[in-house]
Amino acid sequence: MKILVPVKRVLDANVAVRVKTDGSGVELANLKMSMNPFDEIAVEEAVRLREAGTASEIVAVSIGPAQAQDTLRTALAMGCDTAILIKTDEAIEPLTVARLLQKICEQQAPDLVIMGKQAIDDDSNQVAQMLSALLGWPQATFASKFTLSDGTASVIREVDGGLETLDLDLPAVVSTDLRLNTPRYASLPNVMKARKKPLEEIDATSFGIDLSPTLRIVSTARPPERKPGSQLGSVAELIDILKTEGRVQ
Ligand code: AMP
Repeated sequence: MKILVPVKRVLDANVAVRVKTDGSGVELANLKMSMNPFDEIAVEEAVRLREAGTASEIVAVSIGPAQAQDTLRTALAMGCDTAILIKTDEAIEPLTVARLLQKICEQQAPDLVIMGKQAIDDDSNQVAQMLSALLGWPQATFASKFTLSDGTASVIREVDGGLETLDLDLPAVVSTDLRLNTPRYASLPNVMKARKKPLEEIDATSFGIDLSPTLRIVSTARPPERKPGSQLGSVAELIDILKTEGRVQ
C-alpha cells in the first residue's frame, strides 16, 4: 500500500503573528517556518501504518518555494520514503493546491492520501475536500481514529453530536484532526539519513494548470485588543456593575 502525504510549510505555531504595516498580509521574513501541525499528524499516522506493516511506501509532497525542501526533509526524517517538491514562489490557493495534488495522485497512484484538516496559516480547510471531489475518491475529514483492513479504511470523526464512524473504499482521502496521534520528533540519526533520501523537484508551471490567484486580499488586521479585566471585592459589587451596564435587570 502506498500513502501520499501533502505537507505545507507554514509560520511556526509558536511564533507570534505580526501583521505587515501596510496590511497586505502577515510578516514571514526571517521568521521560523515549520511543517503545518496537522500535516505532522498525517505523517505520523502514515509512518505508524508502515511500522504496522499495513503500508509499504510513503511519499511526502509539498507545494511552495525552494525552502519547502526543509519541510520535506523533516517529513523524510520522520519516516517518509521519498519526497516531491512542486516548486513555486507564488501564493497558491486551495483549489490550485488540490488540482496540483490531483496530478501527483494520477502520477503516483497512491492507495490513500492522508493530509491535515487545515493549514494553520490560511485556515481554509478546503484542500482535502476538493482533492477528493477532483479525484472522485471517498473522503473522511477530521479523523480522530483510523484503522485499515482489507482495502477499507475505517475512520472515526468527531462531529457535533458525538462520534461518527465511516468505512471508505480505497483509494480515499483522509484528513487528520488533533486527537489522532502525537507526532514523533525526528531523531538526529534520522535527520542525517533523511538527507540521502530521494527528493524530486518539479516546477509547478509544468502541469499546465492556471496558478494565478482568483482571490485578492483586501486587508489584514489584528483582532481588537482585549480590555484588561478587573478584580472585584464581592458578588454584590459584580451585580451592581452588571446592573449599571444594563447586562442584568
Ligand atoms: P487548507 O485546505 O489550505 O487549510 O489545507 C489543508 C491541507 O492541505 C493541509 O493540512 C495540507 O495537508 C494540504 N496543503 C495545503 N496547502 C499545501 C501546500 N502548499 N503544499 C502541500 N500541502 C498543502
